[in-house]
Amino acid sequence: MTPRRNTRQQDVIRRSIEDAGRPLSIDEIHALSLEDVPGIGVRTVYRVVDRLLGDGVIARVQIAGHADRFECAEVASKHHHHFRCEKCDRVFDVSSCVGRIDRMVPEGFTLSGHEVLLWGSCADCAG
Ligand SMILES: [Zn+2]
Ligand SMILES: [Zn+2]
Repeated sequence: MTPRRNTRQQDVIRRSIEDAGRPLSIDEIHALSLEDVPGIGVRTVYRVVDRLLGDGVIARVQIAGHADRFECAEVASKHHHHFRCEKCDRVFDVSSCVGRIDRMVPEGFTLSGHEVLLWGSCADCAG
């Protein structure tokens, strides 16, 4: 495999994550990449995603009990949460946050961060 081919695969995968506007799973990245790089294998997608993670270009979104998703590091750096559709298994960004979360912190504890995951049906599936 030539370096040029590697670069092209990396560009296609990077662009698919950047253009999606929501976190993507490996399977979703693979399906999108196939449109531009016919025959690209899922193992290549894993390898490139690992490299982009290592370079700090993208970030991992972990959702307990479900496949990891990946989003742009720039998106990840801004405080936001996620909504997972139980019907189509897509994950979406949620820009707002719950208010006054500090009120939940037990007396004497110091809060460093929080995670909020919403789930249900997306607009397409709620139909
Ligand atoms: Zn849905
Ligand atoms: Zn929040």
